[in-house]
Amino acid sequence: MHIKLVGVVGAGQMGSGIAQVTAQAGIEVVMHDLAPEFLKRGIDGIGRNLDRMIQRGRFKPEDRDRVIKRVQTTTNLEDLSRADFVIEAVVENEDAKIELLKKLDHVCPPEVVFASNTSSISITRMGARTSRADRVIGMHFMNPVPAMKLVEIIRGLATSDQTFEQTRALAERLGKSTMTAQDFPGFIVNRVLLPMINEAIYTMYEGVGGVTDIDTAMKLGTNQPMGPLELADLIGLDTCLAIMEVMHRVLGDDKYRPCPLLKKYVDAGYLGRKTGRGFYQYDKQGNPISPAQ
Ligand code: NAD
Repeated sequence: MHIKLVGVVGAGQMGSGIAQVTAQAGIEVVMHDLAPEFLKRGIDGIGRNLDRMIQRGRFKPEDRDRVIKRVQTTTNLEDLSRADFVIEAVVENEDAKIELLKKLDHVCPPEVVFASNTSSISITRMGARTSRADRVIGMHFMNPVPAMKLVEIIRGLATSDQTFEQTRALAERLGKSTMTAQDFPGFIVNRVLLPMINEAIYTMYEGVGGVTDIDTAMKLGTNQPMGPLELADLIGLDTCLAIMEVMHRVLGDDKYRPCPLLKKYVDAGYLGRKTGRGFYQYDKQGNPISPAQ
């Protein structure tokens, strides 16, 4: 099937990024979220990203409005009935994702693939709650979507070869490289990355080092472009905690125990860049001002 219209559910940092790269590839998008202000925030984010790319000479100014116009927005899920392929990027919560997929199952024609951008949740279990387990797949984009090359593809137990090929072809049309992971919590990227981030938080919790010491150590000492605490703030501390909880619960090994400090920050609403405060404090443009005290 030639994909002409992609449905994106969730207009947060990942959903809006996915909508942006899809529109940049010349494909129409219909993006859904629960309220108009979330959709506006998503569209504004796309505009700011494109402006930054124009400033750096990586995008033609005359294409800016054309790309944004390709992204229609809606709070009505029924509008996704026209989509040829749907990508969900709602919060990292299994119940929320399953409830959404069940609704989409009624709205979308049976041949339409549902790709989940989940960071850790079982594709097999989500697929089994729909009437199209063979057409449910993991399509894990990296953050920030426009800048990052990789899409990790995860097959559920029932995912068909056709669904896999269609998903891989779409990722390549969006200019991404792909690899495949088996359906276990965290897949490959987050199974390796999140324990490191969680350990960095433990290091801070136990007083081994402060925010700047830990991030400087890992940037200059292990050649990472971002320190783990800075990266945790970018991912979102709520998302980091949700991923650690899935790995801890499902794999049953205490090496995945989320750091109590991570839980405390999430309880306080310190979710990282998206709320202006996490391990660092941020200005309105999302630039770090200082480590949070
Ligand atoms: P976010 O908090 O920025 O955005 C989530 C959006 O989903 C919000 O706008 C919210 O209003 C919307 N939403 C929630 N429930 C909804 C529903 N039922 N219907 C429609 N919209 C709904 O989160 P995010 O960082 O964009 O993460 C989204 C997904 O992408 C998660 O599954 C996350 O694990 C995954 N992911 C995140 C990252 C990252 O670095 N943040 C990287 C890869 C994958």
